[in-house]
Amino acid sequence: MKQTGDLNLIKKINKSIVLDYLRRHSPISRARIAELTGLTKATVSSLVNELITSNLAHEIGAGMSSGGRKPMMLHFHAAAGYAIGIDLGVNYILAALTDLSGTLIDEYKLEHQNSSLEQVIELIQASIRVMIARAPQSTYGIVGIGIGVPGISDEQGNVLFAPNLGWQHVPLRNLIENEFNLPVVIDNEANAGAVGEKQFGIGKSAAQLVYLSIGMGIGTGIILKGELFRGSSGFSGEVGHASIQYDGKTCVCGNYGCWELYASENALLEAGRLEFSDPKITLEQLLKLAGEGSLEAKALFTQLGRFLGIGIVMIINTYNPEMIVIGGRIALAQQWLMTPMQAEITKRSHPYPLQQLHVQFSELGSKAAVLGACSFAISSFFSSNKVMVELQSYFPD
Ligand SMILES: [Zn+2]
Repeated sequence: MKQTGDLNLIKKINKSIVLDYLRRHSPISRARIAELTGLTKATVSSLVNELITSNLAHEIGAGMSSGGRKPMMLHFHAAAGYAIGIDLGVNYILAALTDLSGTLIDEYKLEHQNSSLEQVIELIQASIRVMIARAPQSTYGIVGIGIGVPGISDEQGNVLFAPNLGWQHVPLRNLIENEFNLPVVIDNEANAGAVGEKQFGIGKSAAQLVYLSIGMGIGTGIILKGELFRGSSGFSGEVGHASIQYDGKTCVCGNYGCWELYASENALLEAGRLEFSDPKITLEQLLKLAGEGSLEAKALFTQLGRFLGIGIVMIINTYNPEMIVIGGRIALAQQWLMTPMQAEITKRSHPYPLQQLHVQFSELGSKAAVLGACSFAISSFFSSNKVMVELQSYFPD
């Protein structure tokens, strides 16, 4: 079908542009939207009226005037629908409910033993049911579900390989879509964390940001020029499986001496089990011991911090980012990790890329990935209702 000149298409595009501005700049007046988009005031007014009718916008009263009549301000109606996000961990499931602007409304967490695929799927479905039950009444209801997984997935939402869960070729999107009849987006949990930090966390102003999710393994989400970088087929960011010791320990990925074998929670616990002769030692216990002054526990964190720094230097040298955000469970140990990590970065990195670089621990903490997963569901809802905004240049108003 030839689309040029299709008035309906142009209108759809313009409507999605107005909606985008409304979502990003609320509260905003019709005149200001016209000014920012280059659309005529009449076009903006008519499109805004349609958005008000569909309950995605509402008027909130008069704003400041720059002379003359005070303009009526518009607000994006974030409570017109809700999104569900799932952060699937190796031993936990964190579910969240947000409104259409990504504001957290409710959350639900449970732990799992990863005993079988069926059990984990059932628990994911159970936590989604809890979130659905807790969602307020709204025009669009639940608009979609986003799931961040600790592994790689394809565009059809199949989890191809999640080594720390022991999953291969799990049709996760189908399994969840068939159960709830809602659109489902599957992505890597570190990608979700990167988007969470970029939209809601300390990464808001950074155009080049690398998010490290450090839990049982290491995942990396890369934002370049403000957008998630997925690589040619969606498998980017597997820096956790770059070797830092060429003949090191064998990894489940098939490589040797991978970074995550030295700098993850798993690595810390392995060393902790040996040091304290306790096969069940946890991160929380090691933190408690370090807090009570245990030199052995502190030394374990120092070693982990150094290994973190060594891998981060690879990231600095590859991407020259403005910001590296460290999230995942290991962020709980920030106070013990920061100094040895920074020392290693300073020692091994060229000084120039460090001048612009901020290495920080996540402020969203364990919520970065789940909020990012909600954001995937929201983006998918709005993109399914609109034509790509980039087409705008073909159809000047
Ligand atoms: Zn590996």
